[in-house]
Amino acid sequence: MAHLFCITASFMLERIRIVLIGTSHPGNIGAAARAMKTMGLEQLALVAPRCEGITPEAIARASGADDILERATHHDSLDTALTDCRWVVGASARSRHLPWPLCSPREFSARLPGEMQGHDVTVALVFGREDKGLTNEELQRCHTHVHIPTSSDYSSLNLAAAVQVLAYECRQAALATPSGLSEAMPGSVHPFGVEWDNPLANHADTERFFEHLERTLTDIGFHDPANPRQLMARLRRLYMRSRMDVMELNMLRGILTRVDRLQNPPTGPADQDESPH
Ligand code: SAH
Repeated sequence: MAHLFCITASFMLERIRIVLIGTSHPGNIGAAARAMKTMGLEQLALVAPRCEGITPEAIARASGADDILERATHHDSLDTALTDCRWVVGASARSRHLPWPLCSPREFSARLPGEMQGHDVTVALVFGREDKGLTNEELQRCHTHVHIPTSSDYSSLNLAAAVQVLAYECRQAALATPSGLSEAMPGSVHPFGVEWDNPLANHADTERFFEHLERTLTDIGFHDPANPRQLMARLRRLYMRSRMDVMELNMLRGILTRVDRLQNPPTGPADQDESPH
């Protein structure tokens, strides 16, 4: 039986994390915090800033949003900033070599309530460096990319301006969500249009799956890390597109474990005890 699950504007906004990677200007961190606070967003994660981070300039540009800066979390890698996230969206100023699911800010806004229904979900919006944007590896950790349509002559927004546009779309989505929308109610939206039976896999479990997949594919000689081509990127795209739930992910890991055993059959009695019946 479905439990009654209420989603309100503040519930949504509290669970959206703005992730800034490799920011080089403290002023942009402050201005991003200000952009967030005006729209009711609270979670800021800083990944390996290329500046001192929260400096007096950042605080000045935050202009009263210093509480967001104080509560900001600091990370060495994108993965630790995303651990608990179940929907990861990368803000990208330009198109990339390998096409990836892409949405407009409006489409992002329309999808947001459904993505946040049903389970304890944190959504991440990931922003790149002022000079180089996001790397391919970072973009490949996202379920979808969002591009703010800009003039074709000059497409790159200032980092905090990009945060402002997408934070505004988050707020529009939150305000349009009728308070008390319930997963038990007909017509409530989920990512797949129906109430799902298992929570979607989070980032940490998904990354562990990809590591396992790469290891096993290397062991069986299907993947050559010295000549990777785009195998792992394409497999990432396939699995990210399907939005695995936790049970599906566990089944896939179970299959990989069986393949691992066929490759390296257990030898000792302890190993044999662990073999499946
Ligand atoms: N020169 C960089 C752009 C950096 S702007 C590049 O060519 O990629 C800093 C960040 O702001 C980008 O990484 C992206 O996250 C965000 N951003 C800037 N313009 C954007 C746009 N038009 N759509 C989506 N995100 C954008």
